[in-house]
Amino acid sequence: MIIKMKKDATKKQYQKLAEFLESKHLEIRDVSSKQVHIFGIIGDTSSFEPVDLYAFEGVDEVTRVSTPFKKASRSFKKEDTIIKLKYGVEIGGDQFVMMSGPCSVESEEQLRIIAKTVKQSGARILRGGAYKPRTSPYAFQGLGEEGLKILRRVADEHELLVVTEIPSSDLLPLFEEYVDIIQVGARNMQNFELMKALGKSTKPILLKRGLSATIEEWLMSAEYIMSGGNEQIILCERGIRTFEKYTRNTLDISSTLAIKELSHLPIIIDPSHAAGRWSMIEKLCLASLAVGADGLIVEVHHDPEHALSDGAQSLKPKKYLQMVESLKKMSELLGKKYR
Ligand code: PEP
Ligand code: MN
Repeated sequence: MIIKMKKDATKKQYQKLAEFLESKHLEIRDVSSKQVHIFGIIGDTSSFEPVDLYAFEGVDEVTRVSTPFKKASRSFKKEDTIIKLKYGVEIGGDQFVMMSGPCSVESEEQLRIIAKTVKQSGARILRGGAYKPRTSPYAFQGLGEEGLKILRRVADEHELLVVTEIPSSDLLPLFEEYVDIIQVGARNMQNFELMKALGKSTKPILLKRGLSATIEEWLMSAEYIMSGGNEQIILCERGIRTFEKYTRNTLDISSTLAIKELSHLPIIIDPSHAAGRWSMIEKLCLASLAVGADGLIVEVHHDPEHALSDGAQSLKPKKYLQMVESLKKMSELLGKKYR
């Protein structure tokens, strides 16, 4: 952090600030010139924000020079984190990993039909919401615990892994029992009590980007989980809210590049919740692969016209299988193993 004092700042004002910084075990390095009083502070500044220092009289400008996230940062750990799962699935290495399935688990029959397509496509991870955080309290809320049991049964029948969203920390024991990857929904990215609880989980966490979260805020949520002891995090870009209305959200494709620069954590893309329209999914999947994402999470439904949630963005099995063929070809060209 670099601090510049005001021209008319008094010695007493500086002294008060210096005492505060020293109490935080920070070292002060003066780099002042005749015109300005300016100094850098060295050490762990994670217990306060730069803006907090404006509370001290005489402070003119405070600039952060290092990132507020540590464990999630590329400067903390140079090598890419690779999350190793059952069936040889690895996220963050040289595989391009597909997670697919319906938005919501509607019934055992429905999930069984879709899981067959998922398996046929060569994917090893089945998605499906058992607890659905819907905008309206009157919309389908999911099958709850029964949905988790259905997911586990159907996935095991097809030797698939399960990824599904956790709505609150009290359900963690249930998720530990039934789920392989715990998904944090966009609306929960800044539920810090949930992040703390997930820090104690033994399962990898799929951390979706919040609807209007900056990349830094998103990585700070990852930091919460990591600081609790769980370093198995997969970031998921699912589009952010902008002024644009034609698509459901705006897919921030460049966030993948930013994450790869800033962090060692793997990142996948969810084009379904970004676009909100099935007709755009294939091209966005190819773009995700091209930009260097480690995988995708895509909604698939055999009867999207009657789906209980997100039918408009769900691919029908035939279209999904066609798309997978294109993705396999492109993965091969890029030297990635499609899983
Ligand atoms: C979902 O994956 O079904 C979902 C609700 O996603 P998001 O949290 O990104 O809106
Ligand atoms: Mn959905």
